[in-house]
Amino acid sequence: MCVSKKLKAIQNSMPKTVTLVAVSKTKPKTAIMEAYQSGQRVFGENKVQELVEKAALLPEDINWHMIGHLQRNKVKLIAPFVSLIHGVDSLKLLKEIDKRAAQNKRVINCLLQVHIAKESTKFGFGINEITQVIKDAKQFENIRITGLMGMATFTDNDEQISIEFKSLKDIFDKVRNQDISILSIGMSGDYQIAIEQGSTMVRIGSAIFGAR
Ligand SMILES: *Cc1c(COP(=O)(O)O)cnc(C)c1O
Repeated sequence: MCVSKKLKAIQNSMPKTVTLVAVSKTKPKTAIMEAYQSGQRVFGENKVQELVEKAALLPEDINWHMIGHLQRNKVKLIAPFVSLIHGVDSLKLLKEIDKRAAQNKRVINCLLQVHIAKESTKFGFGINEITQVIKDAKQFENIRITGLMGMATFTDNDEQISIEFKSLKDIFDKVRNQDISILSIGMSGDYQIAIEQGSTMVRIGSAIFGAR
């Protein structure tokens, strides 16, 4: 199946209220343009270099999301144009994003990444830290915390994935307000479970563009 057909099938399988981020990492510009031509405008990349290169060459009305782990020394490269940063996992990183956003006269939307998986390799704040981090982030005038992001354990145990997503949904329900309205959970392998658990934004790559 081609990109546009897979994209449509996925869109048809989810509620209209859930935002689909098409994760185009490692995929060529031609594949992105195929999705673009069928109406997709939100794309996610996980490497700064690749994101910057693609953004420079592709249509200006694409909303680019940084979904991967972001190093502080690279924030300046995406600050002029990025529309949402998913993986914010430290106050130091927030501080740097705030500084670079101010230099670009922008307010940058950020999601706090929350560690919900069993694997220790996944980044993020602990669930218990979130309310405090949201308070601390209020000092940053050029940042808007718009929600939470998480990744479940890489497992085929759907029950465990459900429990992990639910733990994030519970804290999301406690902190959600007018600004904090995005719950970014769900990838190719687990987005249906994520939507059942209340996801408002899914990040889907291989199910649209094929295996990497
Ligand atoms: C690669 C990636 C995705 C998409 O993964 P697929 O399994 O290809 O859908 C989602 N979120 C993050 C943070 C990623 O790095």
